Amino acid sequence: MESSTVAREAIDLLNKLGAAPPFAAQGSLVARSPIDGLTVGHLPEASADDVRRTIEQAHAAYLIWRSVPAPRRGELVRLLGEELRRSKEDLGRLVTIETGKILSEGLGEVQEMIDICDFAVGLSRQLYGLTIATERPGHRMMETWHPAGVCGIVTAFNFPVAVWCWNAALALVCGDAVVWKPSEKTPLTAYAVQAVMERALARFAAAPLGLAGLVQGGRAVGEVLVDHPKVAVVSATGSTRMGRDVGPRVAARFGRCILELGGNNAAIVTPSANQDLALRSIAFSAMGTAGQRCTSLRRLFVHESIADGFIAKLRNVYASVSIGDPSQPSTLIGPLIDAAAYEAMEKSLTEAQALGGKVHGGGRVDRALPSAYYVTPALVEMPGQQGPVLRETFAPILYVIRYRDLTDVIAMHNGVPQGLASSIFTTDIQEAETFMSSAGSDCGIVNVNIGPSGAEIGGAFGGEKETGGGRESGSDAWKGYMRRTTNTINYSRDLPLAQGVKFDVG
Ligand code: NAD
Repeated sequence: MESSTVAREAIDLLNKLGAAPPFAAQGSLVARSPIDGLTVGHLPEASADDVRRTIEQAHAAYLIWRSVPAPRRGELVRLLGEELRRSKEDLGRLVTIETGKILSEGLGEVQEMIDICDFAVGLSRQLYGLTIATERPGHRMMETWHPAGVCGIVTAFNFPVAVWCWNAALALVCGDAVVWKPSEKTPLTAYAVQAVMERALARFAAAPLGLAGLVQGGRAVGEVLVDHPKVAVVSATGSTRMGRDVGPRVAARFGRCILELGGNNAAIVTPSANQDLALRSIAFSAMGTAGQRCTSLRRLFVHESIADGFIAKLRNVYASVSIGDPSQPSTLIGPLIDAAAYEAMEKSLTEAQALGGKVHGGGRVDRALPSAYYVTPALVEMPGQQGPVLRETFAPILYVIRYRDLTDVIAMHNGVPQGLASSIFTTDIQEAETFMSSAGSDCGIVNVNIGPSGAEIGGAFGGEKETGGGRESGSDAWKGYMRRTTNTINYSRDLPLAQGVKFDVG
């Protein structure tokens, strides 16, 4: 184990959180902090047999849990919310250490876990089906929702704890057991969350063993989870590349997938926009979390009549942000997760330049930490939507493109393979409604006068096209974790068949 200041703080926090990661010098999983780029410790990865055992245990737990009344299941999630409230400060700090996001975002991520627990507790009394009119006299038709089984949860590095909770809180009240495969880049926060969960389980007392399992490791560990026939639902969050592999594998065994994949999110600034509000929203959406949110703003379309002045103001905003240690309150932009993220950023900027893009910013900030990757966020004025603008580069790059006509810009907005989050800045109701209409944005999240990132848990979260089509979190996303039965009950003494079919015997 290393003993840098950051590593020592991580170990202290893990101790305070009651988590005891099995550090072992020969472990193939490397826990590190992007703050200084140094290793915190090595950890073992789960073997394929470990994963299968965890799934079998979860399945046995599900067979018991499915018969526990849903409001009682909600009590477990209520306790989880309580434990998270107690652990918020320490867990939030650990998120900052392991991901490099600023402390208010680290804490905000834990708050999001608490919010979804509260939501799920209420939901545990509202897992309702419909009563449906039937064509047959003396009959009643209704639908009932039942637990689906084991829910496998695969998560990405950038929201290392909240995404588990979006899934687990809903899945547990829905009567599923869960098995979590966190990102190999964030094993420490996963151990910490598991310790918090264990405390909630211990207080609940009657929870079946193995109800919430954790398997640590990389892609190979995820694949065992994805392929297992006893995992009824796979909820996978990560890159489109990952989804392209996971989706067909789960489909091949007729399992169910909730895919939450990459985005290439855009905003349109119209001539009537409140520019001050737009500038502040764009700053958070494009530079917040160092551009490492799935909903980060990556493309900005500015009307040509206001473009010169607006881009000049935006450049001033970009020049004003503080980059550095994410645990310092004055910092707005922390480090990128690793060297690969930095290399991807540089590659996209070079490509953009070759296509005629004018690059402002970008490049590494010298902090005398060779393995930590602090960058200046980049604004790139592009002549059109091409090359790297069409893909997600998980870094703070904002491509700015001028437009003339709303219909054309909506077509350009939708002209990328991804479909997660979008927004328009306007005070013109026709423009706002058009953007939200069926002829408007083709994304799963469509906002007006706020940026594309920073969603609340009450709405369904997810996107279309290469973003995968999954929905998590609020609204009726819970249905993804349950199976629906349709029930027809005959309370008459006759047997009329549907569609007037006659089949009289005897
Ligand atoms: P990633 O795709 O590299 O890894 C995500 C997770 O998938 C990790 O746990 C990884 O081990 C696992 N994995 C990878 N290949 C797998 C396979 N074949 N089978 C099973 N598991 C596999 O993503 P990342 O770099 O950790 O995260 C960044 C990406 O995640 C970005 O593209 C971002 O947009 C996306 N993301 C999407 C959402 C959303 O809700 N849409 C939320 C957060 C992040």
